[in-house]
Amino acid sequence: MAGYGLVITSLDVKDIRFPTSLEAHGSDAMHGDPDYSCAYVIINLENSDLKGYGLTFTLGRGTEVVTRAVHSLSYLAVGKSLNDIYNDFAGFWRVITSESQLRWIGPEKGVIHLATAAIMNALWDLWARLENKPLWKLLTDLPPDKIVSTVDFRYISDVVTKEEAIRILEKSQKMKKEREEEMRIAGYPAYTTQPGWLGYKPEKVRELCKAYMDKGFRAFKIKVGSDLDSDRERCKMVRNIIGWENILMTDANQVWDVEEAIEWMKNLAEFKPYWIEEPTSPDDVLGHKRIAEGLAEFGIKVATGEMCSNRIMFKQFMQINALHFCQIDSCRLGGVNEILAVYFMAKKLNVPVCPHAGGVGLCEMVQHLQIFDYICLSGTKKDRYIEYVDQEHEHFEDTIVMRNAHYVAPTMPGYSTKFKESTIHDYEYPNGNVWRKILAQRI
Ligand SMILES: [Mg+2]
Repeated sequence: MAGYGLVITSLDVKDIRFPTSLEAHGSDAMHGDPDYSCAYVIINLENSDLKGYGLTFTLGRGTEVVTRAVHSLSYLAVGKSLNDIYNDFAGFWRVITSESQLRWIGPEKGVIHLATAAIMNALWDLWARLENKPLWKLLTDLPPDKIVSTVDFRYISDVVTKEEAIRILEKSQKMKKEREEEMRIAGYPAYTTQPGWLGYKPEKVRELCKAYMDKGFRAFKIKVGSDLDSDRERCKMVRNIIGWENILMTDANQVWDVEEAIEWMKNLAEFKPYWIEEPTSPDDVLGHKRIAEGLAEFGIKVATGEMCSNRIMFKQFMQINALHFCQIDSCRLGGVNEILAVYFMAKKLNVPVCPHAGGVGLCEMVQHLQIFDYICLSGTKKDRYIEYVDQEHEHFEDTIVMRNAHYVAPTMPGYSTKFKESTIHDYEYPNGNVWRKILAQRI
């Protein structure tokens, strides 16, 4: 196909930050003053205006470190033709995650993996643009063996093999058309965290719960973990507005010890939380299992994944039933290649995936992934939602479309991650128009 002979000439990387901490958007028990940000990658091609756009989400300071890591990795992509990459995408993923000097500062975790995600996400965006399809459609149209060929099965073949993944995908082929239609019209169900930020005053929480009920939302998540009395107050207030027939999720963003998590959540059990998200360290597989067991009699399930470093960690969590909801993050894992690996394991082990979103561009990205999951893998929406936060969508050219609390399948080519030019102009750190003004006031 035309275009695949094009050669990558350079990767531009930008540090884009939004001053969300000024109004406590995104605040939780662990992150009191996040400035929603991202390392933004643009892939340039020789003799072509076509580009790929990808990002990885960050919280402000630290974005300069991730952009630096993208620079360090970019030599692996420069000079490659798109054929070189897409004909053996898993091979390229292996190359970028196994660079013998850079893997020392990972491997497959932390800053270097966030940088990998930004590059891989840009490559997936580019592939979808080349095919003139939204990413979810690129994925659903690819033959099963081609999708599977993008995944590196090293370290996970004890749970799912390449052959099994192909068989799983083959099973859904005849249902694809009908499910696609459903995603274009009705869309995929969402829950919202909008009323839940810890820094919001009670009146604001109340107002937002009502507003989102009116928009059709029936599942709400609130942040907990700073103060038990105020958590109880807020749970009560939110329940009063949303009623008992709707869903209330809770999220502690890693603040508790294992036993503390169990005790704290027992004190919130009367409000019937659907899940407790990130109750303790994101690396503590056995701790999560203990919490899941300790809370089972109260009907509270455990969700985690937004800071789960890689497919190997997800494998362990799911193998021993330490999580009930798998919350993949489109930027924490190393791009769509690794996310697909997690989806295959989740399907095999029968764990529902509810992607983490919000931040910058996460809603834009995960809608593609979850729609693919519905069409080609899970075939069900039972116990599955995509997180929704109304934050920073206006900066993207292909902004998300919500209809009655559902994500409607995107129609524009790509991974929905291209910023408007004006956004880069205003929010590039530290010299964008908005930052110049803010920083001048701080001096
Ligand atoms: Mg969370």
